[in-house]
Amino acid sequence: MLTLRPEDILLDCRAPDWRDALEQAAESLHRAGLTAPAYRDGLFQRETQSSTYLGNAIAIPHGTPESREHVLATGVRVLQFPAGVEWHDGQRIHVLVAIAAQSDEHLDILRQLTHVLDDDSVGERLAGAGSAATVAALLSKAQVEARLDADTLCLGFPARDARELALAGAARLRQLGCVGGDFMADVAERPLASLGQGLWLTHGERSVAVPALALATPDERLESGGEAVKGVFCLAAQGDAHRGLLERVLTLLDSGAAAELPSTDAATVLARLAGESAAAHTRLARVLNAHGLHARPAKQLVQVAREQGLPIQVRLAEGGGATVSASSLTKVINLGARRGQQLVFSAEGEEAQQALEAVCRAVADGLGEHVLPFDESRERSMPQADAAPIQPLPDDEPHPGVAASPGLAIAPVFVLQTPRFDYPERAADAAEQQRRLRQALVEGAAQLEALVQQARGGEVAQILSMHEEMLTDPELFEAAREGIQEGRSAEAAWWEAIETAAHAQEMLADRLLAERAADLRDVGRRVLGVLCEVTLPKPPETPYILVTDDIGPSDVARLDTQRVRGLLTARGGATAHSAILARALGIPAVVGAGERVLTLAGGQELILDGERGRVIPTPSAERRASAEQRLAEREQREAEAWQARFEAAQTRDGHRVEVAANLGNTTHAANAVERGAEGIGLLRTEFLFMAHAREPDLATQIEEYREALDALDGRPLVARTLDVGGDKPLPYWPVPKEDNPFLGLRGIRLSLTRPEVLETQLRALLMAAAPASEAADKPRPLRIMLPMVKDVGEFRAARAIFARLLDEIPAAERATDVQLGVMIEVPSAALLAPVLAAEVDFFSVGTNDLTQYTLAIDRDHPELSAHADGLHPAVLRLIEMTVAAAHAHGKWVGVCGELASDTLAVPVLVGLGVDELSVSARQVPLVKARLREFDLAEARTQAQLALAQATSEAVRDALEVR
Ligand code: PEP
Ligand code: MG
Repeated sequence: MLTLRPEDILLDCRAPDWRDALEQAAESLHRAGLTAPAYRDGLFQRETQSSTYLGNAIAIPHGTPESREHVLATGVRVLQFPAGVEWHDGQRIHVLVAIAAQSDEHLDILRQLTHVLDDDSVGERLAGAGSAATVAALLSKAQVEARLDADTLCLGFPARDARELALAGAARLRQLGCVGGDFMADVAERPLASLGQGLWLTHGERSVAVPALALATPDERLESGGEAVKGVFCLAAQGDAHRGLLERVLTLLDSGAAAELPSTDAATVLARLAGESAAAHTRLARVLNAHGLHARPAKQLVQVAREQGLPIQVRLAEGGGATVSASSLTKVINLGARRGQQLVFSAEGEEAQQALEAVCRAVADGLGEHVLPFDESRERSMPQADAAPIQPLPDDEPHPGVAASPGLAIAPVFVLQTPRFDYPERAADAAEQQRRLRQALVEGAAQLEALVQQARGGEVAQILSMHEEMLTDPELFEAAREGIQEGRSAEAAWWEAIETAAHAQEMLADRLLAERAADLRDVGRRVLGVLCEVTLPKPPETPYILVTDDIGPSDVARLDTQRVRGLLTARGGATAHSAILARALGIPAVVGAGERVLTLAGGQELILDGERGRVIPTPSAERRASAEQRLAEREQREAEAWQARFEAAQTRDGHRVEVAANLGNTTHAANAVERGAEGIGLLRTEFLFMAHAREPDLATQIEEYREALDALDGRPLVARTLDVGGDKPLPYWPVPKEDNPFLGLRGIRLSLTRPEVLETQLRALLMAAAPASEAADKPRPLRIMLPMVKDVGEFRAARAIFARLLDEIPAAERATDVQLGVMIEVPSAALLAPVLAAEVDFFSVGTNDLTQYTLAIDRDHPELSAHADGLHPAVLRLIEMTVAAAHAHGKWVGVCGELASDTLAVPVLVGLGVDELSVSARQVPLVKARLREFDLAEARTQAQLALAQATSEAVRDALEVR
């Protein structure tokens, strides 16, 4: 809803001409802090393109897409000109609604204003309004929906004549609160009008709160003046709101189906009034999509309906809404169907049953989205209107989120919102549409090329080049061309081609490919942007904090690390791979901070504290100064930590704890050493596999592992064998679609289904660690660990292969200093650590997964993962058990999950007896510095304190107090 505050409305403005009026509008937007002065030019430019006159003496000036960069915050200013101003298109205006919008929010504002066009007197009333409140009320008036549903029907009423039926209908409307007493009096006085076919109509206009239509039918045959009385419609009229309902009654009469009404049930009456023919077959389907039938699933539905080759109608089962064509995207979206609501599909003819079956199956399958069954006993399909509006964040108040990547940032925000495009579905001139599309593709490619040049190599450039390639995909163009030939606009046909291709990717059921689908849509939006002349949101040239709903790993990889000072997301958790990447890039991040962060205005200053997991919008001068001081101290600490990065990692009293680095790419090993890493504590070899289009062969693998070992120069390499499945699918190793991939075929379980792959990898690792011929005496310690082991059975199966290889490969050609261990990521492995410890060489605790499985929280869950905190006492107890078991057998224990770099967790882990911490390479100097801040006794006290708490919040509180 457009909510106008009195200060948004300027009464009694005067202007000699439209230019002066527009200058005043520009000035008022600027004074309100919504725009920079340059936005004025955008407003004038827009009027030269076409007039923004809306109708009824209202114009809605807004800037061109190019001028949006001068918008500081979204908002409107209303200027009233009682004497009127002649607009440049010859229309006379009394009101300007000047809009500052960063993306396409002005379309929303526009939609909210369309109701004023229905009432011719609004212009005059706006001109004469004496208060800001009156103007606000006139502009903000919500459109009223007329009511017709099972409750407004009064079937089989024991009436003695038609008037009693009319009064029964009126009484029903009164009971429902639609009308007051005066309405009853109107109905009682007014003669009934015969509609024919035994149906009659009465109406009233007084004391109507909600326009509505009732129908009362008699329980037995009735006549009035020799004419049959089969039913009386009672209409509560208000403005034009009831008009649609009346038209539906007349259509029903025209169809001749009215006669059957009285003898039937409420559902059938509503169906006929909705426009569903008696000859139609019908099928019900429940909407399962979490966000209802929004644009994407609606599009899928329309596609399936169109494919059936016969007209299919659809309506909401609940309420008395009219049927609409299931082939019309706007109409389907306008149904506003929410999760849990039932749709009634109808079609006529021989093929109808089959067609309805196909459409309903598509709805049940989620229309391209992953859906969960609807449990009526637990869920209610809450109307959207009931949802509380999102409150903006107050200035200068800390707002909590999840600490995902340490560091502090003070910078203006850039809120990344997906732009919305409005375009006609159909266009008559296919040749012209094709020309437009070709031109837009050329323009899109040119934009990408410019970005590739700017990116100058690296991962970002690679992704953009891939986008450029996608644009030239002939199949995509061909699909769009076919759509255009069928009468679709260039925009509609292009988007349909993109959606179809993206959907096909998603159907391959693995998340890596789903990311490809996201790339396709990215590319698609770029072209749509060109076609609709909507500029995609462009980040500022100056440093900023990126605010977004959620962010995938590939988005993080694309971030411009020169300018992005911090990352703030509404959803997500600390152990999602995107958060891990943010840490690797050294970008402070707070995630899962809730959707209120999306209300931040572009350019608003923010303090982002990636350590404490909180943000402070528009800080006061004092708070800003203190944050700046902390930032300076932090930089100082980082500089000191950097200076001391090559010192051995140990506590203040000399207790040695090795600090190693986590890597996903062997080429980064040298950099890790340069940062002070004492080894690689976790090489996520799956990323190496993912970087290849097919399984890397033995030679390729040996080369890659050798690169890491060479760079390590005698330091140990802990390599984890392939850990795919779950959230890390491998395109060329498809896993059947699983309802719970995290509980499915992943890690060692999956590897053991193809032992030859595991064998090649083990062989490559062993051979890569063979002493280098030029330095045969230099050690190349190799530690191999198995992911997701649940018990000793899996370990033994893998060890059998490992042992055979040790026998097979001559000692001179393979590692000599080698150990085989397991990751402790599954609670059963921690509980059985005493059994495992007797056989393995070491343990490395993967706290990311261990937390996920112990707390039963999906680490990637958009809302819940924020609570997957490794400092939970249950997780700590499992680590304690693991260490105790390992040490009892003289084995060592590392921690390679994200917890190992958490400032509060470091002393706890050391106190629990952990021997090695493996963290992202950037964190190495800081973790080493952290170790130097406490001694072993203090660490043990902290560990005991943490173990004694009941929740992770309590653990953090207790540790922070100290
Ligand atoms: C873990 O689960 O803690 C871990 C280190 O493995 P990954 O994050 O790669 O699943
Ligand atoms: Mg793991």
